[in-house]
Amino acid sequence: MRVIFLGTNGWYDTETGNTTCTLIDADDYFVILDAGNGFYKIDQYIASTSKKPIYLFLSHFHLDHIVGLHILNKFKFSQGMRIYGQVGAKNILDTIINEPYTVPFAKLPFKVGVYELSEGQHNIPFLVKCKFLLHSSKCLGYRFELDGKIITYCPDTGICENAIELAENADLLIAECSFKIGQRNAEWQHLNPEDAVQIAKEARAKKMALVHFDANIYRSLEERIEVQEEMKKVFENLIVAFDNMEMEI
Ligand SMILES: [Zn+2]
Ligand SMILES: [Zn+2]
Repeated sequence: MRVIFLGTNGWYDTETGNTTCTLIDADDYFVILDAGNGFYKIDQYIASTSKKPIYLFLSHFHLDHIVGLHILNKFKFSQGMRIYGQVGAKNILDTIINEPYTVPFAKLPFKVGVYELSEGQHNIPFLVKCKFLLHSSKCLGYRFELDGKIITYCPDTGICENAIELAENADLLIAECSFKIGQRNAEWQHLNPEDAVQIAKEARAKKMALVHFDANIYRSLEERIEVQEEMKKVFENLIVAFDNMEMEI
């Protein structure tokens, strides 16, 4: 299974990348994690002739996780797209993905459905478990079972039990990394590299990819590499993601 990081910035786009979006190309499904500005690239990986179902999971509605949805009308996916989010997602998305901001779902050139998930385990038809994380706005973390592997996505959050539970024995944990080493802000819950490593270790995750580097804090890709070099000393299988990086798991 292939994981492609399409947007790895948090908050806003800069020369280091687009805001957050990750595409998982599994045997039977395309699974997309959040729809920041990197979302526009999905058709570089999902051929127009593909019939494989497309699932998009939204963690929360901060704009850096949904702003990419305004270009939905450039796609013509014959298989349609199913969008999943927390309870309330339908109303919120109908407000934003609508006139006068953009083309409403009903007028798109392909079928899009929005579905709401409560906390817990669902079979949709692959297994996905979701739990709320620790953030200024209610934010869902996800744990997927795909191709016999576990992929966990912990976007905007501080350290919390639910993140550790979702990442339990994961083959790949995709975690946010807004802050730099040693940085923390109790009023603005996000992870620094040590926090992310703590979650990965406590959960016994096999591998971790860091994404969502705050654009105002990480000004260059070199600063991400420094984090990788430093944190590899305590968690060997850690990578910092860049836009368009691909990973096989
Ligand atoms: Zn964010
Ligand atoms: Zn957020």
